[in-house]
Amino acid sequence: MISKKRIGIIGAGASGIACALFLKENLVDTEVIIFEKNDRIAKKILKTGNGKCNLSNINLDSTYYYSDFVEYSLNHFTNKQCAQFFRRIGIWTKYDEEGRMYPYSEKANTVVDGFLHALNEKNVSYQTDYYVNHIKLADRFLVYSDRYQVENVDFLVFAMGSAASEKEECNYSLLTDMGHTFDTINPGLTSFITSTNTKPLAGIRIKAKVKLLKNNMLIQEAVGEVLFKDQGLSGIAIMDLSNYYEKDSYVELDIAYDQEEEELMEFLSHDLENRVFGLFPKMIAMDILKRTATKNLAEVIYQIHHYRFNILHVAGIQQAQIVVGGLKKDEINPYTMESNKITNVYVIGELLGVGGRCGGYNLHFAWASGFVAAQDIIHKIKGE
Ligand SMILES: Cc1cc2nc3c(=O)[nH]c(=O)nc-3n(C[C@H](O)[C@H](O)[C@H](O)COP(=O)(O)OP(=O)(O)OC[C@H]3O[C@@H](n4cnc5c(N)ncnc54)[C@H](O)[C@@H]3O)c2cc1C
Repeated sequence: MISKKRIGIIGAGASGIACALFLKENLVDTEVIIFEKNDRIAKKILKTGNGKCNLSNINLDSTYYYSDFVEYSLNHFTNKQCAQFFRRIGIWTKYDEEGRMYPYSEKANTVVDGFLHALNEKNVSYQTDYYVNHIKLADRFLVYSDRYQVENVDFLVFAMGSAASEKEECNYSLLTDMGHTFDTINPGLTSFITSTNTKPLAGIRIKAKVKLLKNNMLIQEAVGEVLFKDQGLSGIAIMDLSNYYEKDSYVELDIAYDQEEEELMEFLSHDLENRVFGLFPKMIAMDILKRTATKNLAEVIYQIHHYRFNILHVAGIQQAQIVVGGLKKDEINPYTMESNKITNVYVIGELLGVGGRCGGYNLHFAWASGFVAAQDIIHKIKGE
């Protein structure tokens, strides 16, 4: 006999909705209610993947994340399971040539509409315009809104996401009031504002191998597009590295990483200055030559492989796609997503600040952590 428990989820975003659906796949008669501060659900999902919603990635392991906290979730909710989950709720998916998974329609609103349909079909209640601003621990959790509404639940899942690309701060005090602590929260998947002048190069896109270094020590590297902007650098490779930014770090671009060194030397050894213009966009060629005092071959080759930009800071949270850092990981059990401090409290999704790279990794962790939390709650309620 399954008791009449009530499960509350704060946040109708990626992780909260997925968690609710996983719960209802197994706990048909248990009430699941989602509290959402916005006037509609899943607003952020509409912005993802330039409106196409990069749901997941076929190449999935913890090296694509800032924190290895993700390990268990990734092993227990694989990319294949992810595709099956979307199929179960009526969304067909596909992959691009780099293994990124999208809805077949390439439209984020297909995902949001699919979620709406599935939530209704599975009888998940959701209250919009319900900004949770206080939680009281009694026999059950009392969940208060800023409009003096109150709901009580037996299990409480925090799925509030982050302030990345949002106007408002995230209400971390709900968790700190319960005794949780947060590491520094940094913007992730964002641009670098550089002290090296990039204005003349603004608008140029190149493919490069990019190293993030500090005191000549490698912090992290990435291969991909670099976009020069008025005040610094962006593009996928830079965004990936921004998750690992440390004060006083800098980047070096290898802008001929995919060329045979000998062939490159041979090519440049005749008429060096002209040939640099035959290799790179004009403004980059000019910049490379400006940086080489002697204009000799060895120095030019060095610049090409170590094209350095000093970083002032990363762009702010409003320009970022995610945050990195967040809740202290040792306060959450990675095998269940349950708080080690308060029984029946769970934390999922971006609140955990695990810092996935571009390519569907952050949404995948949102689904996966929602899945892991749901399995534990199901297990408890079914008393297995
Ligand atoms: C522009 C952009 C593009 C992106 N593209 C991709 C992509 O293509 N692929 C990818 O993997 N990741 C992408 N991301 C990252 C991804 O969207 C997030 O990591 C993911 O949505 C996190 O899911 P979540 O459930 O933790 O948080 P969210 O999806 O942000 O959901 C949190 C929900 O909680 C609600 N909430 C917060 N506080 C309260 C409160 N106190 N009371 C009630 N409700 C509350 C919020 O309104 C929100 O609806 C992108 C992010 C941005 C900003």
